[in-house]
Amino acid sequence: MGREGLDLERGRRVAERLRALGVHGILITAAQQGYITELSCGMPECYCPEELGGKGYFEPVSSDLPDWMPTHEHFPRAKREGGQRTVDNTVLGHRLCNRIDYSKSVGRSHAKDLARVESARRRATEQHGRPIEDAGSPMDGPIGPGSTNERGGRTWSIPTETLREALLEELGRIGDSFQRDELAYLALTSKPEFAIRDALAFGLHRRLWPEFVVAREWGRIDLAILSSGRPVLLLEAKAMYSMDAASELRPESEYPRVIREDIAKALVRAGDWAAVFALVLMTHPKTLPEASLGGVVKYLPTITRSFSRLVTSEEIGSRAREHLRADLTQIGPLDTGTIEAGSSFGVEVEIDWWLVGPVPMRR
Ligand SMILES: [Zn+2]
Repeated sequence: MGREGLDLERGRRVAERLRALGVHGILITAAQQGYITELSCGMPECYCPEELGGKGYFEPVSSDLPDWMPTHEHFPRAKREGGQRTVDNTVLGHRLCNRIDYSKSVGRSHAKDLARVESARRRATEQHGRPIEDAGSPMDGPIGPGSTNERGGRTWSIPTETLREALLEELGRIGDSFQRDELAYLALTSKPEFAIRDALAFGLHRRLWPEFVVAREWGRIDLAILSSGRPVLLLEAKAMYSMDAASELRPESEYPRVIREDIAKALVRAGDWAAVFALVLMTHPKTLPEASLGGVVKYLPTITRSFSRLVTSEEIGSRAREHLRADLTQIGPLDTGTIEAGSSFGVEVEIDWWLVGPVPMRR
């Protein structure tokens, strides 16, 4: 691939990630045409704290205009010097870095802005516990077939396939982490995704430490596997019920949209290193809980409605699985298994896990 082709390829990936951040317009066009080839703040000085992720850290665009959202800046020719808003006069920058740069150029005070930088640094330190180290090579060599990533001239292999196998093995025996009937109780009384995520995190920690660090609630990501302080795998967990997926119209749950939103959020944090996975947990009650359990068994009305439309639990289960398979294979490679969760309130429960990923950057 020639230099130009490489820039276009990189630019397209940046455009994809900018779009996931909610960016529209000239920045997307400039990236697609290879004028922006890195998701990185290109202002002369970037103020984004390393603890937060530095130049490469961006927050999604929203109406409250976050400091670290992507903005467009006229560069190399400034607007006040007659620079046009064209693809070849476009630089990607953090909103706050952009504002400080402008303040400096017109002699306006920016002390308040610098205070915002400091408070962002404090918050990031509290959240992550310690600064993110500069990335060296996370691995001495590839453990298995992995994806190769390049950044700043350094190349290393991330053993995505190895980590995926570790995830699958731990999911395969996740039921052993719970007492008899515990998962049935948890899944009927509220969503069980955090209980399962926590057991999965501990299983992975036991298996992967000290080579990898397994984190829960890493930033706003449910589970992250880190190497040298950088994420190499991000996983978002989402719980749902078989009734949500069984309905032909699937109106009461828009779960594929929710899952895609979670994935988009993770892709934003993934940088160039991390593989993104989604874990969908589907609770399937095999009989209808008693009506007296309203308020105790969450979503009892939905369960009841569903049982009144479809004749048997088997019918609900098989339809739900058929729909999930069809919806999730569109997102990425798919694996699934069933946890025998036991029974609670006289209701037998199964929980399916569906692991989707690694999610390709371009979907
Ligand atoms: Zn910046």
